[in-house]
Amino acid sequence: MHTVFVVGAGPAGLFAAQKIALAGNNVVVFNRDIKPGGLAEYGIYPTKDKMKFGLRKQFAKVLSLPNVHYFGHLPVAHGGALAIDELRGLNPSATVFTVGAQGTKKLGLPGEEALGVYSAKDFVYHYNLLPPFASQDFSTGKRIAVVGMGNVMVDIARWLLKDDPGHRTEEVIVVARRGPFEAKFDDKEFVDVQMHVDRADFEAELRRVKDPLAAVGQDIGKVMDGPFKVLRKFEGEPTMTPKLSFRFLCSPKEIHSGPDGRIDRLTVTENVMVERNGGVAAKATERTEELDVDTMIFAIGDVQDPRVGLPYGPEGYVTNSNSHDSELASYEVFDPQQGRMLSGTFVAGWARRASDGLVGIARHDGEIGAERVLQYLEAQPRNRHATVHDVWMYLDRKGLDLVSKDDLEFLSMAESREAQARGLNSFKFADDREMLRVIEDEKAKELREVA
Ligand SMILES: Cc1cc2nc3c(=O)[nH]c(=O)nc-3n(C[C@H](O)[C@H](O)[C@H](O)COP(=O)(O)OP(=O)(O)OC[C@H]3O[C@@H](n4cnc5c(N)ncnc54)[C@H](O)[C@@H]3O)c2cc1C
Repeated sequence: MHTVFVVGAGPAGLFAAQKIALAGNNVVVFNRDIKPGGLAEYGIYPTKDKMKFGLRKQFAKVLSLPNVHYFGHLPVAHGGALAIDELRGLNPSATVFTVGAQGTKKLGLPGEEALGVYSAKDFVYHYNLLPPFASQDFSTGKRIAVVGMGNVMVDIARWLLKDDPGHRTEEVIVVARRGPFEAKFDDKEFVDVQMHVDRADFEAELRRVKDPLAAVGQDIGKVMDGPFKVLRKFEGEPTMTPKLSFRFLCSPKEIHSGPDGRIDRLTVTENVMVERNGGVAAKATERTEELDVDTMIFAIGDVQDPRVGLPYGPEGYVTNSNSHDSELASYEVFDPQQGRMLSGTFVAGWARRASDGLVGIARHDGEIGAERVLQYLEAQPRNRHATVHDVWMYLDRKGLDLVSKDDLEFLSMAESREAQARGLNSFKFADDREMLRVIEDEKAKELREVA
């Protein structure tokens, strides 16, 4: 029997684990967070309960397979609880890294380190209660610039405009380097915030960018037929405060901070549009503008985290993408220094293509990655590799606070009880130590009941 390691228990990792396990192999899942689910648990908007419950149920089904083993609260990284070399030393039949895209894209702007400047992922982790982000300072002010124009921007705007318990927001300003036709959000997401867009302001902004858009053949008269058609659909309905506004054709240039070290102004460069490689691109002009903001959130996608220890290049983890073998080869990790594949090492999901699509796409990618692993295993000798027992023994010797499948059930029971007591649909503990304590308390309670 083969033993395959899956590092990362988001949708890509869990659906990969399912496929590999159902083919008759042991799977050992290592996960940084105590709970499984990745961004499906800690990224998807907090009030999308139905979707989250559905996904949790599917993940629980994967973990209920007897040949899937789970070690939560175990980051695999240089300087993490388990280094990648230790993982290799355990001699798995194959390893799939499905760790998502945990790195932060830095633009290298002057002032980027100011207080009140956040990456969208970290901010989303904070309001979705992922430790340690849940207890870190992600305070927002009254005027918040959100850079980027995709679904993540819409989620963040929704939180700031509607659900943030602090209720401090007066205006969310979307800063987009290109024009309204390049908006990437889905209508069904934008519906939730459209009532905060002041139509007169929006049209004034369209008039401001009319000429640069016309230069690439874009007609502002058609914006309401394209990505912003939701605004036309709800035209005439009252605009709500706080306000959601757009600054098109603007790129952040410099972040200024006040004496308290917190951002108090943003300089943006005004762009024009040019045709490039069959599409349109933004080109900076000499003109700049000052935006009066006290918080800034970058929602421009993420990158993979180099600290995991896989070969890393400008496109993230290096894969065998040059292989003419097949599309499946792009799931194999390639070591450019040695000029060869890292035998038995694969990536899938957002670890393969950062910030690429919804849960369904990550699931599909995990399953394709699993197919590649199964092909690889066919040529590998059986029973020459690590056993699950070896892994248990090794981790036990390290004395780490690990979380097993049984522990997850104890945690889930405690959270359901807490939700019931508070009259909520669901409840999450937001601190690792508290979760570990609750698990121990539940175990002790069960032992007492048995005795
Ligand atoms: C703000 C936001 C909102 C979204 N909303 C939706 C939505 O409404 N609907 C939808 O379908 N999709 C949504 N998505 C997309 C969806 O969440 C992703 O497609 C999907 O979660 C990606 O799956 P993944 O498994 O590749 O990575 P992730 O979900 O990021 O999972 C990665 C896993 O790896 C673990 N990990 C990370 N580093 C390590 C390490 N070093 N060692 C061990 N484990 C590690 C993490 O703990 C995590 O469990 C949203 C994404 C974001 C960012």
